[in-house]
Amino acid sequence: MRGADMGRTYIVAGAGPAGLAAAITLARAGVDVEVRERSVSAGARYDGNLQMLTNYPDSRDARDEFDELAPEASVRMWPQTSATLHGPSGKAVVSRSREPFGYLLGRGSGEGCLDGELFRVADSLGVRFRFGERADPDEVDIIATGGRDVYGVAREWFGEMDLPDGFTVHFDNRDAPGGYGYLLVADGRAVLGVAVTRKHQQVEEWFRRTVQWFIRRYELPSIEAPSLSGRVSLFVPSTGMDARGGRYVGEVGGFCDGFFGFGIRLALQTGRMAAESVISGEDYDAIWKRNLDGRHDSAMINRVLYESIGHPAYRLFISLAARSDFRRLGTLLYRPFLAKRVLVPVVKALGGTGDGGPHGERCAWRRIVR
Ligand SMILES: Cc1cc2nc3c(=O)[nH]c(=O)nc-3n(C[C@H](O)[C@H](O)[C@H](O)COP(=O)(O)OP(=O)(O)OC[C@H]3O[C@@H](n4cnc5c(N)ncnc54)[C@H](O)[C@@H]3O)c2cc1C
Repeated sequence: MRGADMGRTYIVAGAGPAGLAAAITLARAGVDVEVRERSVSAGARYDGNLQMLTNYPDSRDARDEFDELAPEASVRMWPQTSATLHGPSGKAVVSRSREPFGYLLGRGSGEGCLDGELFRVADSLGVRFRFGERADPDEVDIIATGGRDVYGVAREWFGEMDLPDGFTVHFDNRDAPGGYGYLLVADGRAVLGVAVTRKHQQVEEWFRRTVQWFIRRYELPSIEAPSLSGRVSLFVPSTGMDARGGRYVGEVGGFCDGFFGFGIRLALQTGRMAAESVISGEDYDAIWKRNLDGRHDSAMINRVLYESIGHPAYRLFISLAARSDFRRLGTLLYRPFLAKRVLVPVVKALGGTGDGGPHGERCAWRRIVR
């Protein structure tokens, strides 16, 4: 195994969590690093947004893992131990967890926000940044350019709202086909949005319906136009490397939770793993496959079941959540049980075209397999 060539500069494309985690890890090992970011600052795409760093399915706490990556960073995190879940009937169920099932945090370049704090750590370690510069993925060492394939779409409003802190989700295909509506609140900052995996073209309608539902249910003030639109790209990678040896990390590499579309934690983890593979010379694919331990396959089966069963699956999930520790349930969902292992080759054999397949939108899950 040949480790990093200390006589040259390693180039990372993208200054989101994946690219910054890679750059920090490389710089700490004394490797010369340059990050090229097409926007004007780190995490610009999500500036001002509130998102959740998941604390499952890994047994290790996400905050401890983050502190190991960047102990100098002071990211403000709001631990979540209670989730309010609404099924299609509208009835609310509260699921709690002993340990946080996630941490809300701010995105973007601001103080205390994830991307800004990681940028400042990387900068202090000597990483060079070229903002406003689009990199060619074929010419860099680590590709961390974020979502590329559209599997789902999200629309959300965020801003200030006088509400108690909380994490609330609404599952109903009539308002969010194949996805969910959500309201996240931390310290007077709120996000109200919808993510759908079907009927993308009508996302404005799903956003409007979701907003109306939350306004009615929680007597919220009216909401202006959406603040952020985004793609949700889900697929199961078979490799994280290209023929040249370029390493794909974060969402561009398919490292995003195939069930809910959460990608921050996997972005941080795979950014670090790719850097470690550069430093040690160990094969990147071997590292992520060993560490992520079949969770992609498990998430794919979850999504297949979720999308094909629909409302009864949502009801089952909610009733399980009502009786379980929410963090443990999240972890359990990613465990590769025997029944899931049996389904994996079947689903992979059926899928794989990359564009939805002959069954149209009802078979959107086919796009998850690569
Ligand atoms: C509306 C919405 C809400 C979400 N909420 C959550 C959540 O609550 N929790 C969660 O875990 N995940 C959430 N996600 C997903 C999460 O945002 C992503 O998975 C995560 O940001 C992926 O990190 P990344 O570093 O791979 O990519 P990104 O954060 O997308 O960063 C990629 C960076 O690369 C830059 N770039 C792109 N192309 C080039 C190029 N050619 N050259 C140079 N730079 C380039 C981009 O400008 C960007 O700064 C959400 C996504 C959306 C759309």
